[in-house]
Amino acid sequence: MKIVMLGAPGAGKGTQAKKIAESYGVPHISTGDIFRANIKNDTELGRKAKTYMDKGELVPDELVVELIMDRFKEPDCEGGYVLDGYPRTIPQAEALDSALEEAGEKLDYAINVDVPDEVIINRMSGRRACLKCGATYHIQYNPPAVENTCDACSEELSLRDDDREETVKNRLEIYHEQTEPLEKYYSEHGVLYNVDGTKDMDEVFESIRTIVGN
Ligand code: ADP
Ligand code: AMP
Repeated sequence: MKIVMLGAPGAGKGTQAKKIAESYGVPHISTGDIFRANIKNDTELGRKAKTYMDKGELVPDELVVELIMDRFKEPDCEGGYVLDGYPRTIPQAEALDSALEEAGEKLDYAINVDVPDEVIINRMSGRRACLKCGATYHIQYNPPAVENTCDACSEELSLRDDDREETVKNRLEIYHEQTEPLEKYYSEHGVLYNVDGTKDMDEVFESIRTIVGN
């Protein structure tokens, strides 16, 4: 099963992708998580990506496409995957389609988590991330058991640099300009499904289950 998660930054793509991965037994692939891990390990890719990420800009397509194509070669992708944060531009979607076509495969679902901009600002300012294991929390809607501490690995939680309000506004603008057109792209490919992302996390997941089945 191959799924792409669409939606604005902070819409809940990662939250739902983790639930999908767990329920359906496919790997959760987040390009943002891969970049953050590279930044943490101070790799060349991480240093390159950070200059864009800190400003709320997109990392250039060539870098992201190369990264994701390498990730697809890992054996855990054989039964499919749920992509979170990829594609973010039409050229990225086309690169994915070409790779799938070459392998004689196809995308099953592009699930668009729909949340208006006003709600996004509140989601992002309350988001806390574990930079060690990738877990995500919200101080109000999904708090950790112990304040500011990851439930899974006990690491101290961080407010992502790019979740500050000025950067979020820039990210939203770029989203509307470059990523939102993917809704039309996938609608024309007959695989677009919309879910109301303003609902409670479990309700959003129920809507996804209705689309994907058991
Ligand atoms: P994305 O991966 O789309 O950037 P996240 O999954 O990280 O978004 O969610 C952004 C923030 O909003 C996180 O703090 C998360 O815990 C919270 N969140 C996600 N889904 C919901 C929801 N349905 N209701 C309230 N808060 C949510
Ligand atoms: P995310 O964790 O998905 O919110 O991504 C955080 C940041 O990583 C984005 O704001 C971009 O700077 C960068 N990034 C992640 N995925 C992509 C992508 N597919 N294309 C370009 N930049 C990306």
